[in-house]
Amino acid sequence: MKNGAGSGDAQQKPKRSLQWITALLLLALPAAFLIFGGRLLATEASTTAPGGRAGSPPADAPSGVEAAPGNRAGAAIDVPDYVPAEPMPVVDGQTVVSVAFDDGFAGQRRAAQVMSDAGLDGTFYVNSGYLDKPGYLTLKQVKDIALQGHEIGGHSLSHPDLQALSVDEAARQICIDRRNLVDWGFSVTNFSYPFASHNQQVEAKARECGYNSARSLGDVRTRFGCEECPPAESLRPEIPYRLKAPAQVESDWTLRDLQDTVTAAETSGGWVILTFHGLCPDKCTEIGVSEDIFTQFTAWLAERNSRGRTVVRTVQQVIGGPKGEPAGWPAAEPAAAGSNGVKNPGLERRADGGPPVCWMEGGYGRNIAQFSEAPGRDGSSASKLTVQEYVDGDAKLLPQQDLGECAPQVIPDRSYSLRVWYQSDAVTQFSVYYRDGTGSWRYWTASPYFSASQEVFAQAEWTTPPVPDDANALSFGLALFSNGELITDDYELYDAAGAPPLKAK
Ligand SMILES: [Zn+2]
Repeated sequence: MKNGAGSGDAQQKPKRSLQWITALLLLALPAAFLIFGGRLLATEASTTAPGGRAGSPPADAPSGVEAAPGNRAGAAIDVPDYVPAEPMPVVDGQTVVSVAFDDGFAGQRRAAQVMSDAGLDGTFYVNSGYLDKPGYLTLKQVKDIALQGHEIGGHSLSHPDLQALSVDEAARQICIDRRNLVDWGFSVTNFSYPFASHNQQVEAKARECGYNSARSLGDVRTRFGCEECPPAESLRPEIPYRLKAPAQVESDWTLRDLQDTVTAAETSGGWVILTFHGLCPDKCTEIGVSEDIFTQFTAWLAERNSRGRTVVRTVQQVIGGPKGEPAGWPAAEPAAAGSNGVKNPGLERRADGGPPVCWMEGGYGRNIAQFSEAPGRDGSSASKLTVQEYVDGDAKLLPQQDLGECAPQVIPDRSYSLRVWYQSDAVTQFSVYYRDGTGSWRYWTASPYFSASQEVFAQAEWTTPPVPDDANALSFGLALFSNGELITDDYELYDAAGAPPLKAK
């Protein structure tokens, strides 16, 4: 439908804020254990603060920052079973308000409490891949929020711009996230699009993954935009996978703005889904509102709710519908024996001056890393990495840590032969990550050192130990962990059984 100025705003603003916030979190925690969604954040972090690239520690970094995946499975919870519901009855002229929180930021625990204190239930759309990470709710806290009576919804595994992905990768982002949340015991039946980014294909995937609705932003009128838009969504939405909602609430919204959005809807009746991200002082950013304003607003809503003409309901209560079984998704297949599992292995395909297609810039710690294109082994394209002002951490080019589009798939308990040609004036080593059963990426291990090779390309080869039993993909790169210059080309990953012999140099 209309993706006018209001909606575009809604899509752009959160993107910047969220990247910035996540970059800050990463900077605050140099030992942060996991990569946050690949190139997008890695790039943002590296441009906002030298040495602050998103990334992960080398072999000697502390482990155990995050609960092991097995522990999460054990954290399956005991929220009451969801009873498939009819949609909420439509009473002529009635206004229904849903209070939604996106992204699962840690401070939302307080927001849930404020709502519960007012006797209201909200909808919390969380990213399963971020739970238990610094700055985000823990799985236990989400459970507590659910037990208070709030709804838990899905928001994708790691908050990508779904329209920018292939359709299959978008399906994995939506379906794996929902499967995680259902496995952990939540009755997850509604979704919201990260950055409000969606098209017909993405909407179809939200439905196929088992959701009963999916929410957009910026298509209901407020003083912040969308002047031509209606003042409310219908209680029987024309397209449930394109739920219309006002622009997200930001720090420049006053109590009056919140109230006006509700009273404007009351002139005709209908559904208003207000979307928050956090409360200041917990989240004093452009997407946070003050706890005072939120508390006053919920008290005002509760008072209206008690009179019955305008009521507060979760999205689930309005939309109803079954709790669909978690759907399958298009699985990526490991490369056949003897075939290279790396996509774009020669780094020839490039777009927009960024990293080669299917690759990301990785690293962490205090150092200044620059990635650029260089002549390759056979005269075509290679990647050059320069590290300066090194204090600690590392830098490396890595296969994009995604859910199947780029990262090489692997089979648990198998060993893999990792190979790359390099020229370097410093010692280097493979740094290796794996994707676990929930779709999250973890640092795994590192190879022995490879010595500098300044004049000619040398081939680094390392056969890994058997990959962890919940690993289904690997991402690996040659790391610089000192000042220096490293050129890499022609990456290969083979199942160690059936790997071709190393070529003579
Ligand atoms: Zn979001």
